[in-house]
Amino acid sequence: MGERYSKEDLRDIAESLIEDLRECEDGTDITTWQLVKAAGYDMDNFKEWDLFDVHDALFHAAKANHITLDMSAHEGKEEGLPYNLDFIVHNRNAQIKCPICGSVNTARYIYGYPAFNEEMQKKLDEGKWVLGGCCIRSVELNGTVYQTMPSRKCNDCGKDF
Ligand SMILES: [Zn+2]
Repeated sequence: MGERYSKEDLRDIAESLIEDLRECEDGTDITTWQLVKAAGYDMDNFKEWDLFDVHDALFHAAKANHITLDMSAHEGKEEGLPYNLDFIVHNRNAQIKCPICGSVNTARYIYGYPAFNEEMQKKLDEGKWVLGGCCIRSVELNGTVYQTMPSRKCNDCGKDF
């Protein structure tokens, strides 16, 4: 018996996949199952119904982030489980603009020491990720802790934001 995910966990998992959808190439052809697996989850921990929930939550979250997941190739066909059907990712409208120069060529800061692998090297080479170091800096103001780390870096003007 593996651990069970709550509905909330499954929504969080779907939310965490949004950055992957934002960073992949426009026109990428992928399934929900492949996305979850690529993010490093052990697929044996998911019950079939869990994956239905992740799939639904993923489509909702993508829409909220201006990412279109096009499954029209499967419309009107009975082909099996939705999370195993491929969709085309359209993410041009989801790119984050640099507030200083307006470029959409920006990278996300990755903090801590993530496991180094081919996928990570690719993200770094493509300018999708930039390593932010091991320590998260924060300040406490009136009892609230604020992170003072930039979340993104512009690849064109070099500024953090
Ligand atoms: Zn810029």
